[in-house]
Amino acid sequence: MRDGSIVAAIGGLTALQAGGAEAGKAAYLCVTCGTQYPESDGPPKGCPICEDERQYVGPDGQEWTTLERLRATHKVVVKPEEEGLHSINVEPKFGIGQRAFLIRTPAGNVLWDCVGLIDDATIARVRELGGIAEIAISHPHYYTTMVEWSRAFGNAPIHIHEAERPWVMRPDPCVRFWQGERTTILGGLPLIRTGGHFEGYQVLLWPAGAGGRGALMAGDQPQICMDPKQVSFMWSYPNFIPLNAPTIRHVMSCLEPLEYDRIYGAFVVRGKGVVPTRGKEVVRRSADRYLRAIQG
Ligand SMILES: [Zn+2]
Ligand SMILES: [Zn+2]
Repeated sequence: MRDGSIVAAIGGLTALQAGGAEAGKAAYLCVTCGTQYPESDGPPKGCPICEDERQYVGPDGQEWTTLERLRATHKVVVKPEEEGLHSINVEPKFGIGQRAFLIRTPAGNVLWDCVGLIDDATIARVRELGGIAEIAISHPHYYTTMVEWSRAFGNAPIHIHEAERPWVMRPDPCVRFWQGERTTILGGLPLIRTGGHFEGYQVLLWPAGAGGRGALMAGDQPQICMDPKQVSFMWSYPNFIPLNAPTIRHVMSCLEPLEYDRIYGAFVVRGKGVVPTRGKEVVRRSADRYLRAIQG
């Protein structure tokens, strides 16, 4: 095989290596994080999301794929989670492996977080559930193909905190940057900027969730642990880089006023990636323990 020409089979996925001559014109996706870049004649030079200290370039170097290739090997599975909530999962795992959520409100549906794959079957299934009117994404690790999702659903606006502007790799008019510490999107859903894992990290509060007791849509932070009675907070999860005490206290000061009982995380680990009840106590107890651990 010619050096740099093509094609490595990684975990069942055929990936293009950087500089691949046969690569052609496409809006490429980074294999490791799922971030999509603007259309170009060949793969981009690198992925700043993965080159960042919080992430990593895969063990075989930077690899790229396209939506077309991904559609041949992967599928999207939409699962009901509770009344008014579906999770959106890519199988087998692609990129970071997170899931997204479709939240149904009387005013329309909100897509919380995003996944790399979108295809005709996904669009049809989501349309059956009422489509997508607005999108909000916790942080850059999950921006993936957000522009494709927006375009598939009438250029639905994507709400992202202004502090994350430098991490938007495929700029588009559908991305709406907001400023400040809190905003409200469709259906009266609050977005709260907590900082921490990313400077403009945001969580979404779904007041109607958990039978009206409220659900915190947390993404990566607080991160639900293997033991769902514990959560954690990290600047980098793959590289085990913690946050400092003032940052943990700040994140807690943002979460403390919110009314919620349940927490939905980005990953299905052991269990369901959910703190089903008493989530606020879990967060409080976990933050106290974290502060004791890092303060000595
Ligand atoms: Zn990447
Ligand atoms: Zn992350």
